[in-house]
Amino acid sequence: MIKADFHNHTTFSDDSQTKPKDLVERLVAHPSIKVAAVTDHDSVKGIKTVRDLAKPYPDVLIVPGVEISTPQGDIVILGTEELPPKPWSVESVVEFAKANSFVSIAAHPFREWGLGEATRTSGVDAIEVLNGGSLYSANKLAHDLAVQMGLPGVAGSDSHKPSELFSVYTEVQAGMNVDEILKAVRKGLVKVSLEKRSIRF
Ligand SMILES: [Zn+2]
Repeated sequence: MIKADFHNHTTFSDDSQTKPKDLVERLVAHPSIKVAAVTDHDSVKGIKTVRDLAKPYPDVLIVPGVEISTPQGDIVILGTEELPPKPWSVESVVEFAKANSFVSIAAHPFREWGLGEATRTSGVDAIEVLNGGSLYSANKLAHDLAVQMGLPGVAGSDSHKPSELFSVYTEVQAGMNVDEILKAVRKGLVKVSLEKRSIRF
């Protein structure tokens, strides 16, 4: 079993203060969360930098990814090192993930920039049911939707500064291997948890 934070922004997102070095240092120092996804806004440029910084540390793993802003709401893709082809719509982004065996996630569906009710027809593989930047009420709605739809629920801090990293995490029944982790998420071998009380209730 591994513990992963599936939603993190680095300075390769316009609105984040977390330098790639900060992310890697905190991951190396963390006692139990050793897997972090890099999911910058509409950019995959930071992945290589973060990965290279993490290379000397065999006990940590970087999951490549991106958070795509579609007109209907944000979708996180885990596993990709490339952007989906444009134009970006819910359909095209979800299809890109499916065709490449990545994982598509409705990010914070009931917060600003979330898919909301459109999640139901989106075809996503999973729903972010615990988002470190969302209110309890919004996370609860996301959780209830995941249960109704029978989709796996995952957690991500949505960190935009170092102090927000790893506030929540997903326990995944997989080893330290990106493909194994993606497969396990798709199968629903996941459980979400709060790491610290930094989340806003
Ligand atoms: Zn985000």
